[in-house]
Amino acid sequence: MSKHYDVIVVGAGIFGSCTAYHCQRLGLRTLLLEQFNLGHSNGSSHGKSRIIRYAHTEPEYVPLVGDSYTQIEELEEKRGEKLWNKLGLLWAATGNQVQSISGHLTKHNIEHEVIPGTKITERYPQFKFDEKWTGLIDPMGGVIYANKWLSAFQDEFKSLGGTIHENEPVISHAENDNTSVNVTTKNGHYTTKKIIFTVGCWITKFFPNVNFEIKPISLAVCYWNAKEESDKHLLDEKHFPVVIAKNLEKKEYYFALPDTDYPGAIKLVLDDGDALSGDLSHPEKNNQDFVDRPGNFISEHIPVVDGTKPYKVDQCKYTNSPDHHYLIGPVSSKTPNVLVGGCGSGSGFKTAPGIGRALAEMAAGKQTTVDVSFFSPSRFEK
Ligand SMILES: Cc1cc2nc3c(=O)[nH]c(=O)nc-3n(C[C@H](O)[C@H](O)[C@H](O)COP(=O)(O)OP(=O)(O)OC[C@H]3O[C@@H](n4cnc5c(N)ncnc54)[C@H](O)[C@@H]3O)c2cc1C
Repeated sequence: MSKHYDVIVVGAGIFGSCTAYHCQRLGLRTLLLEQFNLGHSNGSSHGKSRIIRYAHTEPEYVPLVGDSYTQIEELEEKRGEKLWNKLGLLWAATGNQVQSISGHLTKHNIEHEVIPGTKITERYPQFKFDEKWTGLIDPMGGVIYANKWLSAFQDEFKSLGGTIHENEPVISHAENDNTSVNVTTKNGHYTTKKIIFTVGCWITKFFPNVNFEIKPISLAVCYWNAKEESDKHLLDEKHFPVVIAKNLEKKEYYFALPDTDYPGAIKLVLDDGDALSGDLSHPEKNNQDFVDRPGNFISEHIPVVDGTKPYKVDQCKYTNSPDHHYLIGPVSSKTPNVLVGGCGSGSGFKTAPGIGRALAEMAAGKQTTVDVSFFSPSRFEK
């Protein structure tokens, strides 16, 4: 006999964990299904660190980040656990990008500072930029303790009475009529009023016929040591900011974090990677170019760090929509009971609590707290 839920959330990465928590919090009887074990490292949400920042190239992201800050503050207080560390963000870019971001932040009354590239070294002695660059300092930038967020949202979901089944892949779903959806998994059958797919790169398996093409990639997540033992402290959370660096002429975008994952080694990664294979697995080894380019960036701009050889290279899956913005809402206007939350690419961890709240509110038929219409999948409908 099939079991009935108000909502089934598919995928227990950070999007699904936040979404399930908010559904249950709104009083919806919720089942969260994960194909692997909880906390696995085969998707996009593993590891110890991510960046949180107000600064974004599009203003629509700012209120979502604001909602995440509010939720994390509440959770920290409730759980007595530190979930992030406010270090400040340095956004360095060539061209006029910094001025445009500064405009969005000003519109939302977010405190920040703009400084010439040549003055960045005075603020952060680890870095060296010339007059082609401009810096933006977002004091609310910081490190997210990613693995702690993931387990915090899952724990809170369970303590509200939510159910999680790990190692239970969803195989198929079919809408019965306008009121329910049949769901088949490896272990059985369920019915639900709403189904929310938060399946990361696996979105390509469930919706092959939508009007948008998604090509997930594998990123080489590189970690780098200090050149000198005496400079090691400059890479820790007390000294190293979170960093976004965009060389717009070279079309290169890097992000960097202090040594949160591996003591003594910063994380610095190029925002580009290799195509995943047909079964969505990583290549055995990423193209050397995705290691060499971050190394060259380090040699040019972070002289205290050794860019000649990474300390370690991990892998992480990246899923982008065609316009590089999230998907939040019904997958199409014809399927109001089938929602998606995805395409977080390199920025979705920080906004996942806000996205989760919005998806749960949609599932409950409520107005969303944050306006997420900019991210509606309907933008791709013809
Ligand atoms: C290298 C790297 C650096 C990043 N840096 C930042 C950063 O600094 N700041 C930031 O905010 N964001 C960052 N991100 C982005 C962020 O990590 C992702 O946007 C986010 O983790 C996406 O989470 P998700 O839940 O959508 O996907 P996933 O974490 O991949 O979760 C999807 C889940 O769905 C499950 N699933 C799939 N199919 C099924 C099925 N059939 N049945 C059941 N379960 C299924 C999968 O097993 C998986 O657990 C970064 C990402 C990468 C890769």
